[in-house]
Amino acid sequence: MRDYCASLIALENGTTIVHRADSGCSLIPPEKECLRLGQLSDDNEAVTIAGSKFSKVDGCPQCMPDANHSADEVAIDAAIAAVITVSNM
Ligand SMILES: [Zn+2]
Repeated sequence: MRDYCASLIALENGTTIVHRADSGCSLIPPEKECLRLGQLSDDNEAVTIAGSKFSKVDGCPQCMPDANHSADEVAIDAAIAAVITVSNM
């Protein structure tokens, strides 16, 4: 089992990014910008659970590369930029 969370701030294209909360991933937003998904068995379950709450979801390219289906590098850059923006607030 792993601990997962989803960013409450969607990318510009409306995609919500899911992270492994225990991965130490640098793209995980601050706690108040994160929805904890709890202990789940794998990345696919995390994406499925998040998909029931958000319209578009994808795995984080950094901590869930196997669950990342976005070939859109612009979206990944936007995710990183969004996190940097939030971190600086
Ligand atoms: Zn991540």
